[in-house]
Amino acid sequence: MLTIGVDIGGTKVAAGVVDDDGTIVAHTLRPTAADRPDVVADTVADVVRELSQGRQIEAVGIGAAGFVDETRSIVRFAPNLAWREEPLQKKISGLVGLPVVVENDANAMAWAEVRFGAGRGQSHVICLTVGTGIGGGIVFDGRLYRGRWGMGAELGHMQVVPDGRLCGCGRHGCWEQYASGNALVADARDTASAHPERAEILLGLAGGTIEGEEVTEAARRGDKASLDAFASVADWLGQGMADLAAVLDPGCFILGGGVSRAADLFFDRTREAFEERLTGKGHRPVADVRLAELGASAGLVGAADLARRR
Ligand SMILES: [Zn+2]
Repeated sequence: MLTIGVDIGGTKVAAGVVDDDGTIVAHTLRPTAADRPDVVADTVADVVRELSQGRQIEAVGIGAAGFVDETRSIVRFAPNLAWREEPLQKKISGLVGLPVVVENDANAMAWAEVRFGAGRGQSHVICLTVGTGIGGGIVFDGRLYRGRWGMGAELGHMQVVPDGRLCGCGRHGCWEQYASGNALVADARDTASAHPERAEILLGLAGGTIEGEEVTEAARRGDKASLDAFASVADWLGQGMADLAAVLDPGCFILGGGVSRAADLFFDRTREAFEERLTGKGHRPVADVRLAELGASAGLVGAADLARRR
């Protein structure tokens, strides 16, 4: 059976036809205007029509970065997509004439990794998509955990620093402001301006504005400020994972997202920080920490599989 998975991002829509084994048999990508909901809906309908040509498609799964309601049809709030109470399921279903399921993008990614990627065979998994922020997905007893109103697993917005850095959600001190790509850049910029002598390689590379890629490259060349930034992100990530283990006792954590491309610079330290800070350390089994396997296509593969199981 074939379904279509659609991943709606801030600047583009990625979509693919996916079979029962999670294999993408056809793929397409379109730019979109994230600030205009109707343009996004039309773009999604276009890619679905394109991919449906000559194929028997059963359903469409859509992964979107936002709070999706418990009926998996309405995006209540999507800070980066300008959606407020957007009836996405109805709109897309009306445009393409197929059953549609809407899912939070990080949930879709977590589901894909458990079904077809790093979490295969695991029953209790926490997936962290570490990019500009932290997307969370929880698979519990083999099922995607969505909460009472569909809004669970927003793990990046646990407050870890009272009155800390301002978050995109409007509150202060959220975990994702200390353990993400944005945090990495903020840390490196802070050090570069307070102690430029520790950031000579970084400042030489960056020229004007410091971005994530330069911090990664500078860290690989031994830049102190950049290495410190990676260490800080790893420690915060490990601390948050230890806290989540205290609550949910998962068998496995999966780390994915843009930052995982720099796994050589933070993965080992993250795992060490997690194990070091685990409550009941020495008297409990320690969850595996793994890197995601499906890369950027995890969102659409997961959305397609969830649509199949709707
Ligand atoms: Zn927040």
